[in-house]
Amino acid sequence: MATITMRHVRDGEVPRDGGTAIQDDPDRPVFRGNGPDDYVCVECGNLLAASMDGTYMTKKVRVRCGRCSTVNVAITDESARPRL
Ligand SMILES: [Zn+2]
Repeated sequence: MATITMRHVRDGEVPRDGGTAIQDDPDRPVFRGNGPDDYVCVECGNLLAASMDGTYMTKKVRVRCGRCSTVNVAITDESARPRL
């Protein structure tokens, strides 16, 4: 089990075909899966997605933190991102 800090969404990189999950309850993660990693807010460290599989947490998965309202994205492999 690892804890992965998500990162900010940069201007212009939000794809049109995705949605942003809103965390209603700061004490309850938006997603809960069966993978090895927990994902936390880049600003306040709040738990946003628990026990997730890294292959699921792509650029399309965005979560707005219920505690600080920061929109987080879960890309961890920057090198895989094509240059535009
Ligand atoms: Zn936060």
